[in-house]
Amino acid sequence: MKIIEIDVYPLNLPMKQNFRISGGSVGDTEKGAPHVFVKITADDGTEGWGEARPSNRWSYETKESVVSTIENYFKPVLIGENIGDLQKAHKLMKNEIKNGLTIGQPIAKAAIDIALHDLIGKQRKQSIASLWFTKPKPSVQLSYLISTDNIKDAIEKANFALENGYQGIDLKIGFNADEDLRLVEAVKEAIPDLFLRVDANQGYTLSEAITVSKGLEKLGVDVFEQPLKANDLLGHAELRRKTYVPIALDESIWTAGDLIQAIRLEACDTAVIKITKMGGLLGAKLCGEIAREANLDLLGGGLTESTLGLTASAHLFNYLGIDRPVDLNGPMFLEDDPVSEGPAINEGNVLLNNDLHGVGCSIDTQKINKFRVG
Ligand SMILES: [Mg+2]
Repeated sequence: MKIIEIDVYPLNLPMKQNFRISGGSVGDTEKGAPHVFVKITADDGTEGWGEARPSNRWSYETKESVVSTIENYFKPVLIGENIGDLQKAHKLMKNEIKNGLTIGQPIAKAAIDIALHDLIGKQRKQSIASLWFTKPKPSVQLSYLISTDNIKDAIEKANFALENGYQGIDLKIGFNADEDLRLVEAVKEAIPDLFLRVDANQGYTLSEAITVSKGLEKLGVDVFEQPLKANDLLGHAELRRKTYVPIALDESIWTAGDLIQAIRLEACDTAVIKITKMGGLLGAKLCGEIAREANLDLLGGGLTESTLGLTASAHLFNYLGIDRPVDLNGPMFLEDDPVSEGPAINEGNVLLNNDLHGVGCSIDTQKINKFRVG
């Protein structure tokens, strides 16, 4: 079966709560959030759907760059290709958009990769898990994301997570070392038994990160994520030698090559796996497998994708056996979503249906049209 069409839909999805990281706002209730949906059609009429959720406050990709990259560079080389040859699809995309320091335009590549996995699964009448010759457990535990500088608000959110069955909290820090530690202390007091992951999104200098890590040690925080700049592997290695808190790398690891450099430099205890930053399921699966073999801990995350990206990610995290609550929280922030049927999400759990083919989400094309911007 060959690819005969690739349709790209830039969307603006409405948000029900604001979301900020140390780099700035990545979406708010006034402006909504940029998502790009992609539909790939095969010559027998089968369709596969993929999603990109770019955020220029997290990395360099934007809604506009995802659309132009797919339309002008990927689509011309992928039309006419066999849908089942994922490796070749990635090779063609890599040939069109070369690496920078690491993979080039991974979020745009991920939308194509997810759509191809969906299409292959539907065509072969298999779930994503079956394509990987596995039948993992159906549920994935979610963490609850808190991004606020207001202590009262953070405590309320932590209590909400506790009351609603969440097993873990992902707390955004990286703004101001002293204030961040006060925020972490308040949240830890509210949820002493939940898994607590704090994410600085590259917000600190090395000396600030050392100070913060000493505070996190005392508070019993489970993992300290991406305290320093993405390219500062040596800084992370030094921090790691000076603290007992496990150090996780997220923005530093985009490819298997990045992960191997981090392992060689002993720069982390934990690797954060995300399908969109890693160019799709193919690259993220490889990173997860290498990290697992290197005896690193694994954390799962996303970039607040809608239910489509969340479901694709959940398949991978189950395959990798990630048992800590994963940071897939798009639907927590989104008021509406183009997925009409997908997995049940409740009490901090995603319940996957592995009997469905492909990713296992139905797309409401009326909503695609409703939220389409350009
Ligand atoms: Mg992170």
